[in-house]
Amino acid sequence: MNKEFSIHWLEDILDEIYSKNPEQITLATGKTPSGHVHLGILREILICESLRKRLKERGKKVKFYLFLDDFDAAKRFPDYIDKHFQEEHLGKPFALIPCPEKNCGCESYGHHYGNELTSTFKDFGIKNEVIWSFELYQTEEMQEMIKIALENNDLIKNILKKYILPTLDEQKQKLFLKMQETWMPAMVLCERCNRLQKRTPDGAIKPNRVISYLKQEESVSYTCSACGFNNEIPLSSGRIKLNWRVDWPAKWALFNTTCEPAGKDHSVKGGAYDTGLEICQKLYGYEGPVKVPYEWLRLGDQDMKTSKGIVFTPKNYLEIGDPEIYRMLIYRTNPMKHISLRIEELPQYYDFFEKIENVYYGLENLESKQEEGFLKYLYELTKIKPISKKKEAKISFNLLIFLAQIQNLLPLEKLYQKALSWIKSENKSLTIEDFKGLLQRTSNWVNEVKTMIAEEYGEKKQT
Ligand SMILES: [Zn+2]
Ligand SMILES: [Zn+2]
Repeated sequence: MNKEFSIHWLEDILDEIYSKNPEQITLATGKTPSGHVHLGILREILICESLRKRLKERGKKVKFYLFLDDFDAAKRFPDYIDKHFQEEHLGKPFALIPCPEKNCGCESYGHHYGNELTSTFKDFGIKNEVIWSFELYQTEEMQEMIKIALENNDLIKNILKKYILPTLDEQKQKLFLKMQETWMPAMVLCERCNRLQKRTPDGAIKPNRVISYLKQEESVSYTCSACGFNNEIPLSSGRIKLNWRVDWPAKWALFNTTCEPAGKDHSVKGGAYDTGLEICQKLYGYEGPVKVPYEWLRLGDQDMKTSKGIVFTPKNYLEIGDPEIYRMLIYRTNPMKHISLRIEELPQYYDFFEKIENVYYGLENLESKQEEGFLKYLYELTKIKPISKKKEAKISFNLLIFLAQIQNLLPLEKLYQKALSWIKSENKSLTIEDFKGLLQRTSNWVNEVKTMIAEEYGEKKQT
């Protein structure tokens, strides 16, 4: 299909995937569970989810993974983590740091925040498989990837030099070349202190870089930069981790990844995606995935970051908003454009949803057939449950707001019957339990907006 005329940007990505002609398609996304994972991560996950669904509908074999990188070391912790806890565990991989909450009972810090994210997938209509990186590194297949990297260190260094050197000023170039003299593509998890790295008082990170690779013994030597311990350790120990620039292509090659989106920080020229592709091709002999760069999702005018900025998780969103509305925002916006999610504009989002639903069912016609096609396509992507033949009656957001405000005046059962009679429906698919959930969610939204307005008004009064 001609790019200019494709009905939706998703089709352009699908075309790129088809052009690789793979028998088995693998979609991948990844995240380090370093704290509450913010809502923005669902942008790349939902892009892959819609690819998965479309590909499956078209009879392709498709796998969709989320890599939770819990072998990554804690470089820093978010502010909400206790200071003593931070000191005790800085530099350890998230898989080996205990859950930060008392009486939670989950197996690690990484699992705690990873599970918080994945527990929302069902509600958002996401069907993927989770791979924990720490476990992956215990497998022979991954250890083989590490071996290939250690045996071809010069090749990796040359690729990194080619891409990174031109982006540095003269002084940094000198430092980079000096650093490369002793650089190795992997680091070791210290057997004595369970750390991968040390953070020096000036904030620099010193990883426990492999010092030498002993090919005959298939082992490496290392000195721990955190506690000074040194030893030789076999590749099969599961305690050797690839540098992040090599970790990515190693996983691509291992899983034959066909497509992986990347946030704009990794998508820049000379960034990890570009170096990753060349390492993947030259080191592992696999051409690498289709790159889908995407812009951030912001909350109002604020950035969402795991370690800095405001915390707003997928779970927080589900407490106030409809997952299909969120999907609609993701799918209506080209990945290269940023999205500002504005909680107070939820009613407008619902109006737009109503519009695309009407267009889909032919109840509203648009002058532009191209736009009509786009909106119909968008509606299909947005829906989580199978689409019914006829438009279903539903309680509008405005009516929900009203019902939420009068809910204390009537017993729930009465309110439920009233709501159904108002929309002239005996909608069997909306149970009283669902109705209760909708009321709760709407009340939460009203309260959230009240708080936002109060805060804004308070701020204005002070200035
Ligand atoms: Zn926990
Ligand atoms: Zn140590």
